[in-house]
Amino acid sequence: MTTARWLAQYAWLPEHAEPTPDVLIEVEAGRIAAVTPLTPSSRPPAGVEVYPDAVPLPGLTVPGLANAHSHAFHRALRGRTHGGRGDFWTWRDQMYAVADRLDPDTYLALARAVYAEMALAGVTCVGEFHYLHHRPGGGAYDDPNEMGAALVEAAAHAGIRLTLLDTAYLTSTVDGQALAGPQRRFGDGDAARWAQRAAAFQPTDPHVRVGAAVHSVRAVPADQLRTVAEWAGERQAPLHVHLSEQPAENDKCRAVHGRSPTALLAEHDVLGSNTTAVHATHPTSADLALLADSRTGVCLCPTTERDLADGIGPARLMAEAGIRLSLGSDSHAVIDLFEEARAVELDERLRTRRRGHFAPLDLLTAATAAGHTALGWADAGRIAVGARADLVTVRLDSARTAGVPPVGVFFAAGAADVEQVMVDGRVVVAEGRHLSVDVPAELAAAVEAVNPT
Ligand SMILES: [Zn+2]
Repeated sequence: MTTARWLAQYAWLPEHAEPTPDVLIEVEAGRIAAVTPLTPSSRPPAGVEVYPDAVPLPGLTVPGLANAHSHAFHRALRGRTHGGRGDFWTWRDQMYAVADRLDPDTYLALARAVYAEMALAGVTCVGEFHYLHHRPGGGAYDDPNEMGAALVEAAAHAGIRLTLLDTAYLTSTVDGQALAGPQRRFGDGDAARWAQRAAAFQPTDPHVRVGAAVHSVRAVPADQLRTVAEWAGERQAPLHVHLSEQPAENDKCRAVHGRSPTALLAEHDVLGSNTTAVHATHPTSADLALLADSRTGVCLCPTTERDLADGIGPARLMAEAGIRLSLGSDSHAVIDLFEEARAVELDERLRTRRRGHFAPLDLLTAATAAGHTALGWADAGRIAVGARADLVTVRLDSARTAGVPPVGVFFAAGAADVEQVMVDGRVVVAEGRHLSVDVPAELAAAVEAVNPT
């Protein structure tokens, strides 16, 4: 078996408060076979090469970053929604206009470019919250899962893993109004038909895992929530749900169901250790207790939440309650997990006017191991023997990171500082360049193709 040896100038090892210098990482068959910190006594004298076949990795090497919440096609809106006033709901109308224009070919082209942009940013695994299932108007494609298949192919081209979260999106309001206009292509009619279509999609590619999602309490009627939860439960698959992103969702849910969205999900067994609530920006303390007691995780998407004027989720309270926090770039206003991670701390500072809520290790964990767990890849996100060989090397000599101690990288680095990315032992980004996709050119073409002229 071939062993590849990498010598990291610094590597961030599991549970270490700070990165460790001079770490030899050996990779076999896509897995980490050995991790050896070179202690002063085992470090060779200057000028002596003990591991001549080890490839040096200058900078800081961290585990692969997991982007736990993505809608790939929202990338087409970046920079195009800032002209006027408005809120989440006016942004959503613009998003629907793009959704209406996509077909399997343009969806593949756009998602391939977006996932390659993620690879450049150090993302080794993405959770795609996928609801663009059918033709405009709602008719099925010849293969009813053709749009999902396009995402699988896109991730393969980009060289990253994908958890396809097949999303049930059935109604347009909490009180069950029918889907209308561009939303109609999201819908399967009812949860039973959603489950049937989702079950028929069984990609065998090793880079893919299929999970489920409840779009939100707006989009799945209460009496059908359990169908989606059971589908995921039977398969031990990840189950994601948009939760309390907007106060209006909470108000409407209380008016219709007499309880909060979190309480409604709990009542219908949607919460649990395989479940991730996305956003959870406006929970009550009772909601937080329900999430913690059920071991439901939360995926924060700070750059989207600020872009859409959603508010600031109570990240510190969640962490104190023991809730596993992961990160997502969601609408892709920005694709930069370093920025998402530091925003978790910096948003708390703005709210509390105090510093120091999350240690650097907490931010690393959210961006790596916790995200992979939320996406059903518990064997990824750690530089440890047996783990998937996902290694992301960040420059410490760029204009942004020069002079920054390795432990400070989450407060200084950005996606542009990612030098090399390995996914399952395969290098997909080297010297800051994607090895198979011309990312800027493909993004420009794919975005232009789907925006109304
Ligand atoms: Zn979302």
